[in-house]
Amino acid sequence: MFKPTESFAHELDANDPLKDYKHEFYISDDHIYLDGNSLGLMPKRAEQSLQDVMNAWKHEAIGGWMNGEHPWFYLSETLGDRIAPLVGGKPEEVMVTGSTTTNLHQLVSTFYQPKGERTKILADELNFPSDIYALQSQLRLHGYDPDEHLIQVESRDGRTIDEDDVIEAMTNDVALIVLPTVLYRSGQLLNVRKLTEAAHARGILIGFDGCHSVGAIPHHFHEDGVDFAYWCHYKYVNSGPGGVAGLFVHDNHFDRTPGLTGWFGSDKDKQFDMEHTFTKAQDAGAFQIGTPHVFSTAPLIGSLDLFEEAGIEALRAKSLQATAYFMYLVEQELSDFGFTIGNPREDERRGGHICLEHEAAASICKALKDHDITPDFRAPNVIRLAPVAFYVSYHDIYRAVHILKDIMTNETYKQYQNERDVIA
Ligand SMILES: *Cc1c(COP(=O)(O)O)cnc(C)c1O
Repeated sequence: MFKPTESFAHELDANDPLKDYKHEFYISDDHIYLDGNSLGLMPKRAEQSLQDVMNAWKHEAIGGWMNGEHPWFYLSETLGDRIAPLVGGKPEEVMVTGSTTTNLHQLVSTFYQPKGERTKILADELNFPSDIYALQSQLRLHGYDPDEHLIQVESRDGRTIDEDDVIEAMTNDVALIVLPTVLYRSGQLLNVRKLTEAAHARGILIGFDGCHSVGAIPHHFHEDGVDFAYWCHYKYVNSGPGGVAGLFVHDNHFDRTPGLTGWFGSDKDKQFDMEHTFTKAQDAGAFQIGTPHVFSTAPLIGSLDLFEEAGIEALRAKSLQATAYFMYLVEQELSDFGFTIGNPREDERRGGHICLEHEAAASICKALKDHDITPDFRAPNVIRLAPVAFYVSYHDIYRAVHILKDIMTNETYKQYQNERDVIA
């Protein structure tokens, strides 16, 4: 069990098999970065791989598509193969392409095929707004009113979604279900397998948004039978702002024609025949649309080295211990200051961040930033703190909690406006 002392934090660090990875990232010694669930830090190897790809442009010009160490023409496929172990997909089921939101549009336009009484899409009321906007617009494109055809399962406590409530909502009028793996605010991890089995037992297709879990939590999308999934890489996979996203399509569905087609979804040997008849790739590559964003993909080449060396299981083990230690210290040190822990406590229901709720959350986050700590604020009252396994030490967590305690004891947070900034 944990102890509240500083020496115990050092002891945890001494026993941490991942402790040396912090040096792989750009971060100053004193800074505590707890926002890797919004934008991961820059890995030095990602900087190098981006530089390598820029050099290929410099020296090879158009030859870069086929030559050099990382031929651009195959980059989305080769990186998909390397992401596959993080999500539990077969290499041919995973592609690095698009953005989270455009991949969702692509997948819903492929998998949402309303027929007879099955016309509705089932989601939840706590998902990220962009996902909901995309689902609403897909319904409108089919001539349906989202107010009637988008069902959003309600939360019982404003923080979490009960899987049994989702299963109860899987009625005969539902054609498709889209849910997050981890809720962006409370950090609840949903039971992907249970939900997928329940959906399939009722003849409904199901897809997951993995933005808040890929790179932090191992998935088994193929084995679980998930129909499709999509996620970004700029959070826990450290691919940089606007980094190209990922998608998974189960190989049961390789015969489907993508809803949105473009020439980069072609069979690669046929693509340059330039015919007006689309010959689709026989795998998840078919769901690409246009020319890949090569420079926004390149950082992944280096970043994935780190995942291959460390292993996603080891990253998850440390993340679970770090979030447990964080919660322990919050309860030890901050119980007098009106915080509520809003994330689930159980390992199998907890994502990569903890969620502290406080009525002065915005001011508290501003005060933390002035103490060289980067938290993450979500209006109106949530402070998300992600002790990312690669670059947050146990002693960082210890220091963060004690700095937070000083801010609360001395009430210095009251010097700041309790309002969000433009980006929060
Ligand atoms: C981060 C995030 C997004 C962002 O989508 P983009 O298309 O990359 O802007 C969408 N959904 C969820 C659940 C997210 O966490």
